[in-house]
Amino acid sequence: MKKVGFISLGCPKNLVDSEVMMGQLKLKGYEVTNDASEADTLVVNTCGFIEAAKKESVEAILEAARLKSEGSCSRLIVAGCLVERYRDELRAEIPEVDAFIGTNQINDITIVADARVNTRSLPILPLGNQTATYLYDESTPRVLATPGYSAYVKIAEGCDRPCAFCFIPQMRGHFRSRRFGSVVSEAQALAEKGVKEIILVAQDSSRYGEDLGQQDGLAHLLRELSQLDAVEWVRVMYTYPTHISDGFLDVLAEEPKAVKYLDMPLQHASRNVLKLMKRGGDRASLERLIARVRRRVPGIAVRTTFITGFPGETEEDFEELLAFVRAVEFDRVGVFTYSDEEGTPAFDLAAKVDPKVAARRRTRLMKEQSRISLKKNRTRVGSTLRVLFEGPSKETDLLWQGRTETQAPDIDGCVLINDAPEGLRPEPGDFVNVRITEAQQYDLVGEIV
Ligand code: SF4
Repeated sequence: MKKVGFISLGCPKNLVDSEVMMGQLKLKGYEVTNDASEADTLVVNTCGFIEAAKKESVEAILEAARLKSEGSCSRLIVAGCLVERYRDELRAEIPEVDAFIGTNQINDITIVADARVNTRSLPILPLGNQTATYLYDESTPRVLATPGYSAYVKIAEGCDRPCAFCFIPQMRGHFRSRRFGSVVSEAQALAEKGVKEIILVAQDSSRYGEDLGQQDGLAHLLRELSQLDAVEWVRVMYTYPTHISDGFLDVLAEEPKAVKYLDMPLQHASRNVLKLMKRGGDRASLERLIARVRRRVPGIAVRTTFITGFPGETEEDFEELLAFVRAVEFDRVGVFTYSDEEGTPAFDLAAKVDPKVAARRRTRLMKEQSRISLKKNRTRVGSTLRVLFEGPSKETDLLWQGRTETQAPDIDGCVLINDAPEGLRPEPGDFVNVRITEAQQYDLVGEIV
């Protein structure tokens, strides 16, 4: 049996693509291995979003090419977003790669993995000159790469928004939703396999169903998924600020299984910068939005991301962003420095900001947020929270860890567990009650009760 190994980079949406490719290869009789050094076939599923991610992807391809030239594997395939951006350059510079498949060619993985196929004869299908149509569905085989109690479900692909810094629409194609029934069936099947937490992902989750003529599609989908017996939590990632409907917020407020958590990248708060980013709005409109969210869903945790150093960002713009963060007090914040991506409208903008200045602004913003995060965590001390138990802590074997419904996997803090009643040994995926005894900047510490 041939062994295939995957190196999956980038976001959860790309991880779902890797899981789908693994599922299709497994159906064809391949064995999926976590050890790249024992794989006959290696697949590097790349990210092409920003400089750091592109660099990481190229390094992973070169590492895989080294394994191939040493004879450790016989076939090397490169997939994902970086292929959509630099297919010809990669092909020319890394001849060790047997095949490149783009984000619209996921189904071709079994063809190009087959050593009998001369991939150099296969048609090159850059996304640019074709309508992207690829969407997996409930019948598509998947091998989950996440722990068995949690799974990402991609509800739509692509994006039609004009954000000036973003190359994703050119790598993923136009926005297209999966059928309602397909998402529900897939979630049902995952729940029957023991998945307790369903995490809905897309480039732009808020627009779910719009292209299928569904009004408030995300609200309806979330309501429907919240009725699934075996599911405990339904989480939505990547919403867009102009599309947060009252219907969606009402489902978050009313459905116990819809987690009180809103992931909504805002990118900035200054009218000037938001205009340059082609995102619109300003500090006042965003503060009204957050106030509406918190009014309709009491206790909700709001996560967002910002970019510092966008071309044209002045010291005043940054001070306005800092004041906004201080005033709103988000629960979770990620901050990126601007990445100058050729092929995006921002690349042609004047008034580029010195990367050192961008990094300094990022540090100031994160420093402010760490103060806010600690302050908020301190209000949790003494309370007992429902926690999804995950097992040994990633930091130390001396602790266990888990997450509350306001903590998403991999990007947010967690609950570190340092004690439990005699003889209690929860299994990963179990829900436990944890009394919080200590607050840290991003994590909480407590004991199972
Ligand atoms: S919403 Fe904007 S930032 Fe997000 S994928 Fe679409 S274009 Fe990119």
